[in-house]
Amino acid sequence: MTPLADRYGRRFPYVRLSIIPACNFRCSYCLPNGYQAEPGVAGPLSLAEIARLLRGFAELGMHKLRITGGEPSVRRDLTEVLRTAAAVPGVTKVAMTTNGSLLTRRLGEWMDAGLNAINVSIDSLDAATFARITGHDRLDDILHGVDMALAAGMPAVKLNAVLLRDVNDHELPRWLDYLRDHAVGLRFIELMQTGDNLAFFRDHHVRAELLETGLREAGWQALPRAADAGPAREYRHPDYAGRIGIIAPYSRDFCAGCNRLRVTATGDLRLCLFGEFGIPLRHFLQRDDQLDELVRAIGGQIGRKEQGHFLHQGRTGITPHLASTGG
Ligand code: SAM
Ligand code: SF4
Repeated sequence: MTPLADRYGRRFPYVRLSIIPACNFRCSYCLPNGYQAEPGVAGPLSLAEIARLLRGFAELGMHKLRITGGEPSVRRDLTEVLRTAAAVPGVTKVAMTTNGSLLTRRLGEWMDAGLNAINVSIDSLDAATFARITGHDRLDDILHGVDMALAAGMPAVKLNAVLLRDVNDHELPRWLDYLRDHAVGLRFIELMQTGDNLAFFRDHHVRAELLETGLREAGWQALPRAADAGPAREYRHPDYAGRIGIIAPYSRDFCAGCNRLRVTATGDLRLCLFGEFGIPLRHFLQRDDQLDELVRAIGGQIGRKEQGHFLHQGRTGITPHLASTGG
């Protein structure tokens, strides 16, 4: 097994796989009008195709997988997908990003299937603001699901909050109260411009880095970054059970630490969230004896990975919204 590396010496132990483009929420920065199916687009990868894909990436050094969407729990065979992922030799971390709408009902079966890390998107701790952002008045139920995950001993529980100017950017004190006794990793994510959200982005983008100065002044200390870590810069404080991570894609050097590749629900490899092209892999996923071909195809494409994204120039690539690639 030769681990993948690109022209800039970056390695890729971490793959993010979208298993469905559809979603049941209408987040104002992502799918403000809800999910609209694109006519003529193929259905998502089957379980057998997913199993072959993951074996290929595992050959190339992947040990952390994140299942995402759209909303992964909209897919009926999600538990089977998790079981399939956990059974791939070499995969030690099976994570999932979810809006949490089925967390209270399905957590047990997901954990039994092998899920060992979960990110739940919670943009606000205020029920009305949460409903305004997502289109669903579900905050209490989702927070209860997070408590259940902590009580069940889920090894990693993280919360994602997209920072939105004049919507939720004043909620840090409320989050700090929450983090005092909740051992979660809260991630503040800077709003990213995508093909579809330019007007929203102009109105609501706020630099996540601004939060970091305040955190340092309040005694929060930066932690060293693990090799398979996500893109967050992490902070902790001795008085708090929880941690805070900042995901600032517009900051200098954000891409230097890139350690992940993405695959869309229909099996296109994306070398960058904001890249200009996808590389179809589905035709290498039709038979078990295509593993070598698949591995060669992925290895052959990695040299095309750019050093960084072009978001500063307003170039968002072929990503209309992050539900299309899984974020
Ligand atoms: N539906 C799941 C969820 O919301 O957790 C998984 C898919 S969603 C695309 C993955 C993450 O991307 C979520 O935490 C979401 O808040 C974040 N996201 C979506 N659009 C974004 C944007 N334009 N900028 C920053 N984060 C975004
Ligand atoms: Fe759905 Fe997630 Fe996008 Fe919200 S952020 S609309 S939950 S895919």
